[in-house]
Amino acid sequence: LVSRKKKSEDTIVELRGEQIGNGKPQFIFGPCAVESYEQVAAVAQQVQAKGLKLLRGGAYKPRTSPYDFQGLGLEGLQILKRVADEYDLAVISEIVNPAHIEEAVDYIDVIQIGARNMQNFELLKAAGAAKKPVLLKRGLAATIDEFINAAEYIMAQGNDQIILCERGIRTYEKATRNTLDISAVPILKQETHLPVMVDVTHSTGRRDLLLPTAKAALAVGADGVMAEVHPDPAVALSDSAQQMNFEQFDHFWAAIQEFMGVH
Ligand code: PEP
Ligand code: MN
Repeated sequence: LVSRKKKSEDTIVELRGEQIGNGKPQFIFGPCAVESYEQVAAVAQQVQAKGLKLLRGGAYKPRTSPYDFQGLGLEGLQILKRVADEYDLAVISEIVNPAHIEEAVDYIDVIQIGARNMQNFELLKAAGAAKKPVLLKRGLAATIDEFINAAEYIMAQGNDQIILCERGIRTYEKATRNTLDISAVPILKQETHLPVMVDVTHSTGRRDLLLPTAKAALAVGADGVMAEVHPDPAVALSDSAQQMNFEQFDHFWAAIQEFMGVH
C-alpha cells in the first residue's frame, strides 16, 4: 500500500491546517523531553515567533538506562495539549505502549513511533487503527526495506497519514551518535508515496552538525526536518549534548531560511 507502484501521487499529511509532503519543507522543533509546563511553553513561544506550527516533545522517553529520566507520561501529554492550545501549534509526541494510544490521541496531533519501536508490530497496528497522523522513525539497525514494511503495517490498518523519518542508523563510525543515511531520503521518496523527514538531532548527536545535515536533507528532497530545542540544554534531563538553545535556534533558522531562499 505504501509503494509508489500502487499510488503515483504524493501522500500529503494534514494536521491542524498544516500539510507535510506538499513540496514545501516543514520543520518540527521542540525539546527532547517534556520536563515542565514552563519549559515547553518557552520553546513554543520561540517556535510561534518564527511563524512555525509544529512542536515536538517526549512524554514517554525510551531511555537506554532504566535509571535515566523516563518522562512525565500522561502529565507530559497534558502539558503538550495545554501549550498546543495556547500557542496554536500541532504537537508530536512518542507513544511506546499500544495501550496508551487511545488515551494519547486526545492530547496530541501526531503519534511518533520511535526508532526502538519501529518493529513493535502491535504498536504499529494500534497506531494504524487510530485515526491520527503517525511519524514513524527508522529503527537503529533497520534496512530501508524493513522501514517500508513497518509503514505498511500502519497503512494496512487503514491509516495513510504516515510521515517517514530518517534518524540515522548504527554503524562502526563513532564521530556521530548515528550515521545519517542521506541516500535513504531519495530512495524512500522513489519507493513510496509518503512524506519523508530527517531528524538531524538524533542522526548526529552533535549540535555543530545540525545545520549542515539539515541543508543536506533539504537538498536531497526531504519534506522537512526535525531538531531539538531546549531553553537550557546544559540542564536538560535528556540529550543535553545535542539540543539547541534559543540563540542557536535563531541562528539555525536564519541560516535555513537563507538556504531555502527566503528573505
Ligand atoms: C525522539 O525523537 O525523542 C527519539 C527518542 O528519537 P529516536 O526514536 O529516533 O531515537
Ligand atoms: Mn532526544
